[in-house]
Amino acid sequence: MGVLLVLIVLAVLLLVGSVGMIAVGRRRARRAPYLEPPVTRPPEAPRPVVVAPEAPVAVEPEPVVVAPEPQPEPVVVAPKPRFRDRLGKARSQFAGYVGNVLSRTSIDDATWDDLEEALILADVGIGTTTAILDDLRARVKSEGITTPQELIAALKADLTAALGDADRSLHLDAGVTNVWLFVGVNGVGKTTTIGKLGRRFNEAGTPVVMAAADTFRAAAAEQLELWSKRVGADLVRGNEGGDPGAVVFDAVQRAAAKNVTLVLADTAGRLHTKVNLMEELKKVRRVAEREPGKVTEVLLVIDATTGQNGLVQAKQFGEAVGVSGVVLTKLDGTAKGGIVLAIEKELGVPIKLVGLGETADDLVDFDPHEFVDALFDA
Ligand code: GDP
Repeated sequence: MGVLLVLIVLAVLLLVGSVGMIAVGRRRARRAPYLEPPVTRPPEAPRPVVVAPEAPVAVEPEPVVVAPEPQPEPVVVAPKPRFRDRLGKARSQFAGYVGNVLSRTSIDDATWDDLEEALILADVGIGTTTAILDDLRARVKSEGITTPQELIAALKADLTAALGDADRSLHLDAGVTNVWLFVGVNGVGKTTTIGKLGRRFNEAGTPVVMAAADTFRAAAAEQLELWSKRVGADLVRGNEGGDPGAVVFDAVQRAAAKNVTLVLADTAGRLHTKVNLMEELKKVRRVAEREPGKVTEVLLVIDATTGQNGLVQAKQFGEAVGVSGVVLTKLDGTAKGGIVLAIEKELGVPIKLVGLGETADDLVDFDPHEFVDALFDA
């Protein structure tokens, strides 16, 4: 019994001891938690950027960028070019001979030679030169002219008189759609002149419609289109090789619809044959006359630098379409200023406008007095 008692006491003691140990262990465990040893990782390589495919988005139409309409150049009122400033070559040559004559004390054979040479070199033409000098000789006798100064004054007056008092106005009729046809061979300056005139009318507040009736060359229509944009004019153009009459007809209709009173029509300067060209011009003219259109000017454009050669062409155009006036271009770049006299004497057509340069402002009305003064002015 005593042994049993001892065994029980021992068992109890053992039980109590182990419970105590567990409790102490738990307490320890709470106080010092287990720490993982730090892991040293190699630096991560940069991850490749994976661009996830975008979710399909409803595609918006690209905005249509409308290029702004080209605006006409601002109108800067430039001083009009003057003959005196622009006739450089013609003036220096002619005035040189005049200086020779004036440097002598009397009128002798050398005087007449100088005057003849001056007029011929200025491209006045043999016939007109002879007529002018014959008249001058007669005046020397009848008026008792003895000094070179009087002689030069008389020549100046003769030249001005030879250019006469022709009607140089540009006609615009009321109540119709005026059509001005520009004719002449390629390269003389038709398109440029139309551009310059467009600018002039625009400045004056009178819009014009331009008709690109030279359908033979695409470049001609493009050039006129550039001018129309620069000066703010309406343009009617057709297809390359199309009917030029149709272009003029459409331009008249457009002008009439917009209450514009003037159509400036460019025409071809070259076709396969001269006969074709003249026939085509006649047809364009007929179409332009259809109501409400009326051809009030046919302006023959002549390049002054071609001198006397220009006269031959001029006669052909004159015969085909009837020319009402001449536009003499490029007078700024030639010593052949005397062509002015030859044109008026031989063609019997007044020079109405003169081109004195390539810019929009370089077109002036022809003024015989100013022109002759400029020629004599050293
Ligand atoms: P088109 O073929 O008859 O229409 O001739 P363009 O109008 O194309 O002119 C031919 C060239 O002559 C161009 O380079 C123009 O700039 C030039 N031109 C036109 N008029 C004048 C002018 O009065 N003076 C000068 N110096 N050049 C001009």
